Amino acid sequence: MPEIRLLSPRLANQIAAGEVVERPASVVKELVENALDAGADRVEVDIEQGGVKLIRVRDTGSGIAESDLPLALSRHATSKIVDLEDLEAVASLGFRGEALASISSVSRLSLTSRTEDTDAASRVEVEGRDMDARISPAAHPVGTTVEVRDLFFNTPARRKFLRTEKTEFGHIEECLRRQALARFETGFTLRHNQRAIQSLRPAMTPLDQERRIGALCGQQFIDNAVVIDAEASGLRLWGWVALPTFSRSQADLQYFFVNHRVIRDRLVAHAVRQAYRDVLYNNRHPAFVLYLELDPANVDVNVHPTKHEVRFRDGRLVHDFIFRTLHRALGEVKPQDHMHGAV
Ligand code: ADP
Ligand code: MG
Repeated sequence: MPEIRLLSPRLANQIAAGEVVERPASVVKELVENALDAGADRVEVDIEQGGVKLIRVRDTGSGIAESDLPLALSRHATSKIVDLEDLEAVASLGFRGEALASISSVSRLSLTSRTEDTDAASRVEVEGRDMDARISPAAHPVGTTVEVRDLFFNTPARRKFLRTEKTEFGHIEECLRRQALARFETGFTLRHNQRAIQSLRPAMTPLDQERRIGALCGQQFIDNAVVIDAEASGLRLWGWVALPTFSRSQADLQYFFVNHRVIRDRLVAHAVRQAYRDVLYNNRHPAFVLYLELDPANVDVNVHPTKHEVRFRDGRLVHDFIFRTLHRALGEVKPQDHMHGAV
């Protein structure tokens, strides 16, 4: 019988990475979420070679104290929750304390950071099977920069599944589109191979928000969308839904956020489909950017490591609220509104 042994920290992290770090875009998602959780008002994303060579995320958030740096890269280390009660009402995007540990186990990661109450920045990197943290002085404004180089260099099986640079970058763009739709108050820039791809200033007014949506989802969408905003029973649903005339042959313009988190949910999808049922042909798909806000205690986000799924405490209530709100909004569209801009 082979003896039972404890996995080395690096191997344990690599196994965990299998769940969350599928491709470069998953790294971008985790790093940008950390920047947003740190309260950054600006997030800059630099990509080289589809993210395989380099992913750099720079933010103007709170930064990390030097004494906390080794912990930031360890597994099950987080500043976002302390106990089960926190978990059940968690409002931050992160809370598992796994992303940096996972990513650093399958790449060459460095994190440079500075907090407001010091002039000195520090950098941390990890190495070896035990993932020992190596800390050195550095220069950096208040905030954090994380650099991830050579993703999957030590996990050839994963690297084999990477697609072309163009495809991987497409996933990164889609990931950033979601984040930028989720946080109007944050500015975002995206560069690929030194070329500026996207630059979005903070969008504070409704007009700025529509401009951002136009830049991310196409002007056609926003020109053909109606604004909704409804509240009932502690739920708020707001956003933009396209007129039935702007239907799509694919379900490729559907963004549904729950408390700033883009989610995929069968119950939500069903409610939306029902609302469009009378106004849309069977093989067409609605387009929408919708935000559901509710007390974090009434939704469980700890369903899957990638947090794309949620569980509502009162699913029936949420379903009916979404259905009724959209059904009413679509029913109020006047006939002449249907006429302009059919796509
Ligand atoms: P989680 O986000 O689930 O807490 P992570 O592994 O993503 O776990 O990050 C670990 C910790 O490192 C976070 O809880 C946070 O304290 C710190 N951290 C990571 N990225 C940043 C950042 N960009 N700005 C400030 N703190 C950060
Ligand atoms: Mg995180």
